[in-house]
Order: sequence, then structure tokens, then C-alpha cells
Amino acid sequence: MDAAPDVSAIAVFPKQPHSAHLTRIPLAPPGPGEVLVKTVLAGICGTDREIVEGKLGAAPDGEKELVIGHETLAIVEEAGANVTQFKPGDLVTATVRRPCGCAPCQAGRVDFCEWHQYTERGIERIQGFMAERWVEHQRYLIPVPSELGDLGVLIEPMSIAEKALRQALAIQQRIAGWRPRQALVYGSGPIGLLAMLIYRVHDIPVMVLGRKPIDCPAAQIIRAAGGEYRSTTSVTPFEAVRDLAPIDFIVECTGQSEPLFISMQLLANNGVLAALSVTGDGGMLTVPADAINLSFMLGNKVLVGCVNAHRDDFLAAADDLVRIEQRWPGLAGQIITHRYRAKDAVERIGKPEAGTLKAVLTFDR
Ligand code: BGC
Repeated sequence: MDAAPDVSAIAVFPKQPHSAHLTRIPLAPPGPGEVLVKTVLAGICGTDREIVEGKLGAAPDGEKELVIGHETLAIVEEAGANVTQFKPGDLVTATVRRPCGCAPCQAGRVDFCEWHQYTERGIERIQGFMAERWVEHQRYLIPVPSELGDLGVLIEPMSIAEKALRQALAIQQRIAGWRPRQALVYGSGPIGLLAMLIYRVHDIPVMVLGRKPIDCPAAQIIRAAGGEYRSTTSVTPFEAVRDLAPIDFIVECTGQSEPLFISMQLLANNGVLAALSVTGDGGMLTVPADAINLSFMLGNKVLVGCVNAHRDDFLAAADDLVRIEQRWPGLAGQIITHRYRAKDAVERIGKPEAGTLKAVLTFDR
């Protein structure tokens, strides 16, 4: 390979709506502890759409372009000096956030960053993974079991749902022996479906609530994993879940804010509600504030915000994905509905095709 080759990448001019374009960026050789990888697949997510719409995202200091992409599956091509954990041919993914100087970041809990001066690959001030090749320190790489193959691109979005469960279990240590008896996943997009698969593989009863019709492809994935899907196309969310056992664990991942306030009213006593949606629009809402407050107070209920994920959540996601694949072969793969070449993906990031669950892209021709 040349001393300083450049590679193809997808970038935006942050805060400039619909500026996604193909570009070329320099690729430095891997330094000590660093690994050079080649992208196998990059996932497109709602956060990428918000960046393309100009609502989120910042370029690295002094640069105009932000290379987007934070969901990745890549293959190791070259390991720098002192790399002990990876060798050429290994499949990897990577965590997204990099630490700032605050106490949680310094203690290895960058997902609990206090000062919000973290950087995030492909989102905040560091270049992302939608590039043909990229370099990363081995400490931020996650090994992907080779039997997972392309499914490895789902590990990052799955890590978000793993964190929600781990947070709920940690919080609920306040109640001896607590385990979710009835989980509600509100939202049937990729995070909702991956959350459902995780909770099902841990034998938790799961109901997914969504806006799509009752026979949509997402509903079929849910039923195949022993979950239940209910639609709000013709009934309110309250009516949709009326006959359910007390819902003591809710994961809100619709990408909207109103369902969070509905979820607060659906949550059972002693339950936990995890808020996962990124909402960048500044919407306002009128809610039954007294009733919500009273039920939270009298019912010992918890609302927990949940962002990003720890390395442990990525490792849990990789493990669970192996289990999910063993129990329901081929099912997780149905979440990947669209595959694009990078040049065709550019316009699809801001404008997904109808029926898209998870779209992925490749730089291979
Ligand atoms: C990513 C997280 C990130 C969050 C906010 C999500 O799409 O998965 O890693 O922290 O966006 O930027």
C-alpha cells in the first residue's frame, strides 16, 4: 500500500441540510496500538438521517467535512506495532464515543460523560466509519465472532438495547429478585426489533407496539421470535395494551417524544422505563402532568435516559447475536432489508426507501 493513500468516504457539511456526498479522505498508516481495517458493511441509522437533515453533527476541529457512519463491520488488514488483540482477517466492529476529561470518561464510562465534551465517530468531531478503510486504536475495537458474518453490522445498534436492559437490571437491584415480567418495546424500527430479539432470547415476554399494520414484515420477525406485535393504526396505544399483564419494563425507541409520555402512563408500579429516542425537532406537548407525577411517586416508577453504550454492551450484543442466530437461524438477518453500494447510498441516507428496516452499504464494487 502507498505511504499515504486516500480512500473513498461519505461525508456531509454539518448543519447544511442534504449535503451528503462521496469524498476522498487521507488514510494514515496504523500507529502503535492501532489497527487498519477495511469496511465490509456500514449501517445507516436514524442518527445519520438527522445529520444529513442538518440537525446534528459536527466536523473535526478545523475541517469542513464530517465523514458519517457509526455502525460498522470491518475486516482487519494491518495491525500496527504492539497490537496484541487483533490480526489480519479478523472481523471487528467499534465503539462510537471517545472520552473527554470528565470523571466518568476518565473512569472508562464515556457513555456516562458528564461534560458532554466527548467526541463520537461519525457524529461529533471525529470522522466516522462510512469510509473504505479506517484506522482505530485496538482498545475501541470489538471482536466479531466469525460465524456472525454480515450480522456483525447489527452489533452497534444492538448495544443500545443491551445497555437499556443492563441499566434496568442495575436500577432494579432495589427490588430483590426483580426480572422483567412483561416488557414493552415501543417502536418497531431496527432498535425495537433488536431489543425484542435480545429480550426474547433471555425468555422475557415481549410486546412490541408500532404504527405499522399488524401484518407488516417487522411483525413477522417479532412473531417468529415468540413476541407479540400490536399496532396503533386503528386504536390508541392505551387501548392496544389494555389487556396486558402489568408492564414493568418499557423501552421507548420510536424516535418521537410523545410515546415517552404515553409510556409513562403505561408503566406498572415499581417498573422501569428507558428513553432511547433521539428527538432533534423542538416539539411541544400537553400531558396529564399531575396524574403522571402522582403515579410515578405512588408507584416507585423509574424513568431512565439511556444513550450510547459501554464496551460490555457491545460484547453482550455479540454474544446474544450468536444465541439469537442459533435459536432462530436467519431471523436477525431479515432486519437488514436494503443493501447499497456507497455511491447509491448517498441519497438514501436522508430518504430511505419504503419498507426499509436496516439499510447497509458497502464500498466494494
Ligand atoms: C448512537 C450513539 C450515540 C447517539 C447520540 C446513536 O445513534 O448509536 O452511540 O451516542 O446516537 O449521538
